[in-house]
Amino acid sequence: MSDIFISDLHLDENRPELTTGFLQFLSNGLEDATSLYILGDFFEVWLGDDHNTAFNQIIINALQAINMPIFVMHGNRDFLLGPAFCNAIGATLLPDPSIIELDGEPVLLMHGDSLCTSDTEYMKVRVLLRNEAFQKDFLTKSIPERQAFADQARGESKAHTRETAADIMDVTESEVVRAMQEAGVKTLIHGHTHRPDEHIVDLSNDQSGRRLVLGDWGTHGWKIRAAKGKIQLTSFLIG
Ligand code: MN
Repeated sequence: MSDIFISDLHLDENRPELTTGFLQFLSNGLEDATSLYILGDFFEVWLGDDHNTAFNQIIINALQAINMPIFVMHGNRDFLLGPAFCNAIGATLLPDPSIIELDGEPVLLMHGDSLCTSDTEYMKVRVLLRNEAFQKDFLTKSIPERQAFADQARGESKAHTRETAADIMDVTESEVVRAMQEAGVKTLIHGHTHRPDEHIVDLSNDQSGRRLVLGDWGTHGWKIRAAKGKIQLTSFLIG
């Protein structure tokens, strides 16, 4: 019995090797998993649950077939994943942040973008995109209109990433500590930064915690497996 965590697959119908890798992962990478946590940016873009494509249906069918509890958290690219998608795959939508219990220990789960507080420009965009009224209005637009908006946002985001210093695009350490203390946890799992690693976090009162960061999928996939009190980040070849 284990819990498996993944994020940042950025599944995209224009990158079929990622879909192949994900389908392989579902058939031989889950090991003895009893639940699967998807911590955001599962899709490169999600225009709304009403956007029915053959590609989306392949992913939905594959997730339906694994027959275990699935938990989905929004990322900054697929924050429009809604109740219809979750119902289709039998998943529970997790708020960001969420605290779960692993072997009796509370663990904080986040996508990770909210930790990048040094990137003030992005934090402003985030407030708009996560606004309920904005999202409602967006979903009333036609699919081509939504696609055009998403393409423009992606272009701007890429330009912003190019022009912004690497440390600003990473998490802000003080925000990590604040979030972990507020949640009362010693373990944090997140993705988003595409910097897979395990970090020691200095919490107050001489306590140390740890922050495990999932990686984005490309030539390799990344997963965290939690079982019997051990939480481990690993990568594997895909495609
Ligand atoms: Mn992200």
